[in-house]
Amino acid sequence: MNLLKQHSILVVDDVPTNIQVLAEALMQDYHVKVATNGADVLSIVRHSAPDLILLDVMMPGMDGFEVCRQLKADPRTQNIPIIFVTASDGNEDEELGLNLGAVDYIAKPFHLPVVRARVRNHLKLKQKADLLEQLAHIDSLTGIANRRRFDEAIDIELRRCRRVGQALSLLMIDIDYFKHYNDHYGHGLGDLCLAQVASSLSHNVARPADIVTRYGGEEFAVILPETERDGAVQIAQRLNERVVALNIAHAPDAPLATVSVSIGVATCAASSETTVMELVAQADTQLYAAKRAGRNRTCA
Ligand code: GH3
Ligand code: MG
Ligand code: MG
Repeated sequence: MNLLKQHSILVVDDVPTNIQVLAEALMQDYHVKVATNGADVLSIVRHSAPDLILLDVMMPGMDGFEVCRQLKADPRTQNIPIIFVTASDGNEDEELGLNLGAVDYIAKPFHLPVVRARVRNHLKLKQKADLLEQLAHIDSLTGIANRRRFDEAIDIELRRCRRVGQALSLLMIDIDYFKHYNDHYGHGLGDLCLAQVASSLSHNVARPADIVTRYGGEEFAVILPETERDGAVQIAQRLNERVVALNIAHAPDAPLATVSVSIGVATCAASSETTVMELVAQADTQLYAAKRAGRNRTCA
């Protein structure tokens, strides 16, 4: 028995006794939610995604195949594993179900221990897939989002901001004289310093939607959705202050006493057709202006 019940399963069937049998077999190990028709499934799942769905095929109104099609067509729900549970014993239905993206197909009458075992196996696979997906987007040195995540997120956020008629700002951030730091303290402490700066940046952005990423080497990129230039400059200046406040002693031969960052800000208005590449180039230009102007500052 799993006291934590960390996984939730949605059991869908139009016949209440079928739901009862499955729910009773699963609820000692999992959070079980139930639905008796397709429309309810779609609204429940979009509100809070379960880890797995046991889906009846034959239901009045929207059948299980159609529910599956709709869930697989929506990026928010397409990764939820679906197991069809059905009285239909035709190979064609099984083929259709699997081709629609279901992970498994269980024929009624089913044997409960087999259902439980299949559910457990598919949940394990889902957990591994989720972990891989997470790791693929995290920078292992600093624990913040990596370049891959940046590339995906900037594209999605730029389009979303245009759709809702909002500006998006981008900060390009580079540690000042970091080569001096590495040369003096060595790469081990250099890495530690990078992680401290990353942590400070990610703790000092304003909103949950802001995305702090390691762009490469000792450079970071912060995506600020729905943020105008003035707001972005304010956030950037706060990041400047917070990094200095870490009070990390710089290498003795570095021109600055404390580790700091320079920041370039670029903003894309909702009406503008600026591409991601152009936006990054603009932020880079501002970053180099900040470097030339003396470092430890923001230029916009
Ligand atoms: P500037 O103020 O002009 O940015 O000077 P800088 O020395 O920071 O610039 P430069 O780009 O010449 O040097 C970046 C240095 O960052 C080079 C390398 O020693 C260090 N660096 C890049 N990536 C890593 C990393 O993953 N770990 C460590 N420890 N150092 C890194
Ligand atoms: Mg640098
Ligand atoms: Mg650099």
